[in-house]
Amino acid sequence: MIILVLNSGSSSLKYKLFNMPDEELLSSGLIENIGDAHKKSVFTYKNLPHEKIKGETDCKDHRHAVELVFDALTETTSGFLKNLKEISAIGHRVVHGKDIFTGPAVVSEDSLAEMKKLTELAPLHMPVNIACIEECIKILPGVLQVAHFDTSYYTGMPEFSSLYPVPYDWHKKYSVRRYGFHGISYQYVNETASLLLKKPLSELKLISTHLGNGASITAFSQGRVLDTSMGFTPLEGLMMGTRAGYFDPAVIPYLISKTGFSLEDIIKKLNNESGLTAISGIGRDMRSIIDASREGNTRAQLAFDMFVHTLRKYIGAYFFSLGGADAIIFTGGIGENSPEVREAVFENLAPLGLAIDEKANRSIKREKTGFINTETGKTKILVIPANEELMIARETYKTAS
Ligand code: AMP
Repeated sequence: MIILVLNSGSSSLKYKLFNMPDEELLSSGLIENIGDAHKKSVFTYKNLPHEKIKGETDCKDHRHAVELVFDALTETTSGFLKNLKEISAIGHRVVHGKDIFTGPAVVSEDSLAEMKKLTELAPLHMPVNIACIEECIKILPGVLQVAHFDTSYYTGMPEFSSLYPVPYDWHKKYSVRRYGFHGISYQYVNETASLLLKKPLSELKLISTHLGNGASITAFSQGRVLDTSMGFTPLEGLMMGTRAGYFDPAVIPYLISKTGFSLEDIIKKLNNESGLTAISGIGRDMRSIIDASREGNTRAQLAFDMFVHTLRKYIGAYFFSLGGADAIIFTGGIGENSPEVREAVFENLAPLGLAIDEKANRSIKREKTGFINTETGKTKILVIPANEELMIARETYKTAS
């Protein structure tokens, strides 16, 4: 069964085409800078076994991006499909399901209407997620489409960690609480960790970190979420590429009175101009930050130190809340590819049973999975490349069969 998976971000669209249940990857691609007035869109894709193709394109919005994906899949020279009708089902990543969508949902008029009501909870992401679904309905009407929510994996998170200590009716009347994100990524790495550790998730205590441009950390006990760093929106928690993470909200009225910024200006700055970008002064890319620190750039060094310090703080809090952990998992661009960050996080923690094997740590980069803890380390430390698309394909296949 051929399943297409679309993973839309605020200005990007990633896709993978799988033959299920064999999990054979047939084609994959990424369109970046969608709708960016200042930069050309870049479309990189690979229809296996052909070479990777990369080129600039004009892509005005996500609907247009979906059209480009379908064109690439049926391209006469290297396209994998002769006809789009060979696609049996489409799986979509959708960022927010609130407490309404507690698992994958078949796309229908009703479910789509419910999703549209959630736009105000994730205004950057929900409109593009929904646009991709609607474009697929237009191009392939009648083909099964399944929405997979980043928040569903958090269903059942205890009230003591999901509620904020704010007036109780904010929670009851306005659903203000911690929802948690990156759930699909965590489901994939946790299930992979369970196979590698040869134990069911119900018997494991895990601390999983997704460290990409967006970054979060989640503690799991007996297969359920105990606590997570992202909150009502993906702004809370760890220091991120351009997001501030945890932050005292009292600064907001103070800044409004001092600077004349509007509330919208400040929220935008907390989302897009904070985090690694703000502190380093040279952008959000951890590779450049590490290189610049080595050359003596003190702000880059400070950005690195702040990122690591925040991560250590959360790992420590979750390690204690769980009463120890069987494994700590790293995924996402930084988690998978930065031995420097992983090493710094565990510096001097051997007395707590948390120690990195330097050689193993250095050898794990670029799409590699493996253990990086020392043999004597009580807690296993694992690197597992993110694969949200495969997780979505597996769940879509279950719904379709
Ligand atoms: P993601 O959002 O998961 O695609 O992660 C993207 C981020 O991963 C980039 O902005 C970089 O900060 C980081 N990254 C990618 N490759 C490396 C690397 N080799 N070393 C350090 N950071 C990396």
